[in-house]
Amino acid sequence: MSETLSTLVSKPGAVTSNQVDAPLGMLCELTYRCPLQCGYCSNPLDISRGESELSTKEWQSVMRQAAKLGVLQIHLSGGEPCVRADLEEILKTAVDVGLYTNLITSGVTLKRKRLEELVKIGLDHVQLSFQDVDPKNAQFISNYKGGVEKKREVARWVKELGLPLTMNVVIHRHNIENTAALIDYAVEIGAGRIELAHVQYYAWALKNRAALIPTREQFYQSVKVSNEARERLKGVLVFDVVAHDQYAVRPKACMGGWGKSLFDITPSGKMMPCQACESIPGIKIDNVRDTPLADIWYKSNAFQMFRGTSWMKEPCKSCDRREIDWGGCRCQALAVTGDARATDPACHLSTFHEQFAETAEQESRQPSPPFIYRRIGGVPEVS
Ligand code: SF4
Ligand code: SF4
Repeated sequence: MSETLSTLVSKPGAVTSNQVDAPLGMLCELTYRCPLQCGYCSNPLDISRGESELSTKEWQSVMRQAAKLGVLQIHLSGGEPCVRADLEEILKTAVDVGLYTNLITSGVTLKRKRLEELVKIGLDHVQLSFQDVDPKNAQFISNYKGGVEKKREVARWVKELGLPLTMNVVIHRHNIENTAALIDYAVEIGAGRIELAHVQYYAWALKNRAALIPTREQFYQSVKVSNEARERLKGVLVFDVVAHDQYAVRPKACMGGWGKSLFDITPSGKMMPCQACESIPGIKIDNVRDTPLADIWYKSNAFQMFRGTSWMKEPCKSCDRREIDWGGCRCQALAVTGDARATDPACHLSTFHEQFAETAEQESRQPSPPFIYRRIGGVPEVS
């Protein structure tokens, strides 16, 4: 289940400018294969059928190197990680080297016996993605029939097997009105945590922006509902809400800061500070097939490019929040301003901020166009 990396990072701690610490978390995109076709998927648009995935041995080497590097937790994701027949072997190595393991899955291919085996090996946590609680609407969003029923069954197994459960939902104009129902559902299935991640617009989500963007009023109402529920459900459900950039006044610390605590490894072994960073001109992405993880983390062009604060321009350069949000998202800055070093337009101090929000509001007031569903092989030509 591939969502934005920012949903995996909790609040950044106090970190010193340009200091390079060991990473805490690693997102392992084991495969881009997935039976669902969500229109907001963060996998690249040009996923090709022939892309060669890292082998079992290569992933096992990645796990060993990650543990040595200081990584504490790994997120087994995709695509759909459960379509890899060697998930058990990869997990076993991760457990053996002492990593905390989190499986991020749509759940639709899981069988109880397999989940039992994963738990036996030592899986620590499951994050189950939901498109909506309404089965018809969930089918519309993911182009997949029967998902809600299947996910509910998987949630029951996770609880019966004694694992902590997080319910993930990407929020957009086709499910935002169901925020309260989604929260109730999380309680009902026994989730200890819910992630309500408003869409981040890159990859398939950028392609489908007009079909996904909610109105400002819908966004405010959704935040109000989740804030009230957070109070009411203290001690029952932990909330992690990723706000909608277009209606925010300040950006998020994208990735908890570039090259600061988290990194991504793609199915073919590219090690990246952020899932969308390949769009940045001049960036040189290294592959774990050729270079040790530690060298990539500490020395590579990609990880050094926006690490710390020395790359910043004004207004970030002299802003007292520069070591809190690290200037926001580089890929969004590039997409909107044409300059990856610019202030993220989600910030009210960016000269692009007003236009950024206004474009979103205009789009959100138009009827939703049809989804271009995520697919292997890229965007269909007819679109
Ligand atoms: S299509 Fe949906 S379920 Fe599959 S990887 Fe993308 S976001 Fe996750
Ligand atoms: S100016 Fe830069 S550092 Fe300051 S709040 Fe905005 S994005 Fe963050």
